[in-house]
Amino acid sequence: MSVTKDITTLKGTVLEIQRMSTEDGPGIRTTVFMKGCPLSCTWCHNPESISPRPQVHWIGSRCIMCKMCIDVCPENALYLDAGGIEVNRELCTGCGRCADECPSTALELLGRKWTVHELVAELVKDRAFFEKSGGGITVSGGEPTLQKEFVTELLKTLRGQGIHTAIDTCGVCGKDALDRILPHANLVLFDVKLIDAELHRGFTGSSNERILENLWHVARLVKEHLYPRELWVRTPVIPGATDTDENIRGIGEFLAGLPAGVITRWELCAFNNLCVDKYTRLGRQWDFADAALMYEERMEYLAEIARSTGVDPAIVLWTGSTRYEGNNDDTGEKKKSIKNNPTSCQGGIT
Ligand code: SF4
Ligand code: SF4
Repeated sequence: MSVTKDITTLKGTVLEIQRMSTEDGPGIRTTVFMKGCPLSCTWCHNPESISPRPQVHWIGSRCIMCKMCIDVCPENALYLDAGGIEVNRELCTGCGRCADECPSTALELLGRKWTVHELVAELVKDRAFFEKSGGGITVSGGEPTLQKEFVTELLKTLRGQGIHTAIDTCGVCGKDALDRILPHANLVLFDVKLIDAELHRGFTGSSNERILENLWHVARLVKEHLYPRELWVRTPVIPGATDTDENIRGIGEFLAGLPAGVITRWELCAFNNLCVDKYTRLGRQWDFADAALMYEERMEYLAEIARSTGVDPAIVLWTGSTRYEGNNDDTGEKKKSIKNNPTSCQGGIT
């Protein structure tokens, strides 16, 4: 038997609130990034969202080397080495005392607990933008279904106030979580990264079997119950990982087998490397630190493959920043430029 918690005491762990987003649904949106994710994608653009626990990180350019943080840490988790303040993550409990005491905001705690009412009060401050633009609020992550009770109550309350709601999911969750949350979501953004189960396991740490089953489940909910109202699929196009012809073709053929008309948008999101500093601040290496942007021509080509798979060609688009390699100039060098196509699900928190 499921027990519903008191909404006044129910708390969710939120990594960040990002305002004025145009990437996570229609219109101008406020995106709430929840903490915790069951996948560990090698290209992850929000590495600070993977752990469900609050985490501290150090921003060297702000540090005045007063060492107060080292003195106040109850776990002796901080120390100074040649590179600056280091966090022993085995010892750190995420209590946040060091961030509270730091005089120059060089230490930040990633992840804050909110009640539903506190968060709604914060989010509705942007209501005028939503109303003018046809926007609303998107709950992303991390993986929001990991905090299903909190997210259900959050979306229910927002919808009750007439605000358009969306949820962005990686699809790794129980059907019960989808059944609870989705009646309160106008839109689902559903990520499909790789169609091959073994490649999926290799790049994300988990098979895609449950993800594809859940996509079918969501498609049936849209078709039979008209909730959520809309389903968008997003595929990150990552060099050397998801950017092959076979992968895009395979995903397209799978999507073409879902009930007709349910998916209203399939977005191929070009890789970007904006998150490289986050890995540095968390003391981690990133496999894609030196990876270049996708070529515009390659994104156009992959979009054409996607359109040829049996899905409605009109729902396919690609987004994100790309390289362009044009005709040779007088010096024999190729002309290069960066093109920015309106939105990209690779953006994460910037
Ligand atoms: S308390 Fe802040 S400014 Fe002082 S050493 Fe620690 S991180 Fe740097
Ligand atoms: S968050 Fe708490 S335990 Fe972690 S380093 Fe800061 S003071 Fe120490």
